[in-house]
Amino acid sequence: MLNIVLFGPPGAGKGTQSEKIIEKYHLTHLSTGDLFRKHLGEGTDLGKLARKYMDEGRLVPDEVVIGMVEDKINSTADTNGFIFDGFPRTVAQAEALDAMMTKNNLRISGMIALDVAEEILKERIRERGKTSGRADDQDEAKIATRIKVYLDETLPVAAYYEKQGKFTKINGVGSIEGIFDNISKVMDGYSS
Ligand code: AMP
Repeated sequence: MLNIVLFGPPGAGKGTQSEKIIEKYHLTHLSTGDLFRKHLGEGTDLGKLARKYMDEGRLVPDEVVIGMVEDKINSTADTNGFIFDGFPRTVAQAEALDAMMTKNNLRISGMIALDVAEEILKERIRERGKTSGRADDQDEAKIATRIKVYLDETLPVAAYYEKQGKFTKINGVGSIEGIFDNISKVMDGYSS
């Protein structure tokens, strides 16, 4: 089983590359942003709670995110593995994920980080905002908050995996296919 953490700031291309990874490696996509947006659309209590954080570009509290991820892992049977997209976003979430993996006799194969300069990120998010319908993609202050939250709270997660010898950084600027080729090379080096 391959269990991958796809890492990077908002706008790095995690969603786009996840789709290609799933197609090739038949993994289960676990995007916490997508799960929250689904709850939001369905008007669940979880969605209502998450909305106030998402609307401001802040992180939803760890215990809420961790509970939702645990539910998704426990309700997924017969998978080749997971691709975690947008999770973990704090060191506490990374620790909780390791604990969940251990409990299920699984392990994280590695973290692949997409590296993109801040100005390019902002440009990409603004472009995405024209069609995504996401309020958090359409407001300069919200975009800036999300990048700041990434730098302050999420970046330490990279060091967490680096310490475990599980971190690889890839250039996230270039053609979608070229970036995917580099991701594939890293993934093919993981032992399942
Ligand atoms: P994303 O689609 O990954 O950019 O996530 C959109 C929003 O959902 C984020 O700005 C956060 O408010 C929330 N969110 C998604 N994943 C997480 C997470 N792992 N921890 C906390 N909040 C999250």
